Amino acid sequence: MSDEELLKLRGGGFFEELEKKTKELQKEGKRPKLLLHSCCAPCSSACLEYLVKNFNVTAFYYNPNISIKEEYDKRVSEMKRLVNIYDGDVSLAEGRYDIRDFLDAVKGLEKEPEGGLRCVKCFRLRLYETARVAAENGFDYFTTTLTISPLKNAAVLNALGREASEKFGSEFLPSDFKKRGGYQRSIELSKEYGLYRQDYCGCAFSKAEREAFKKKKAEENCK
Ligand code: SF4
Repeated sequence: MSDEELLKLRGGGFFEELEKKTKELQKEGKRPKLLLHSCCAPCSSACLEYLVKNFNVTAFYYNPNISIKEEYDKRVSEMKRLVNIYDGDVSLAEGRYDIRDFLDAVKGLEKEPEGGLRCVKCFRLRLYETARVAAENGFDYFTTTLTISPLKNAAVLNALGREASEKFGSEFLPSDFKKRGGYQRSIELSKEYGLYRQDYCGCAFSKAEREAFKKKKAEENCK
């Protein structure tokens, strides 16, 4: 499937698939090892709360899309703080941080709006690396916190998760963490833990888009 076709994907049922899988594992008395690609601490908070009940989770912080080093460091340090709250029940692994990996992946798509083709490349980069690390380190499953965002298409993310699974031979756990109040719960937990919540996705292009939006709003309010 081309990236253009991927972007047209709609549909759901991914949270139900996750619940079905989880129930099967419970019945079998299994507690599998899960590598959870984590985009940031606020999004990870509700995902971890849900997953730790049934999985041994390692949060995998792999986000070369974050263009400002200080911002990257801030998000990593918030992840460390969040994982510490779980007092040994969750581990944290940090992936390689080299912004060139992201810039090479999205070359020519810099002007795409958020949610467009640039994001497909960005999701694929992060999911492929997660699938690769999961396969090389004996994880039973991998998945991503990205599906908790109402701004991100879960059908695209789940299709890319399956694509990564086929490529690297690790098993993808379907997800749509925003469902059943998941996104709302991430806001509540972020407040409770005092987590830093950034107001843009991560790359320089999304930051510029956000700043242009805020400027436009401010100008409208002055009229
Ligand atoms: S907007 Fe977000 S998902 Fe899209 S390319 Fe930028 S960092 Fe990646």
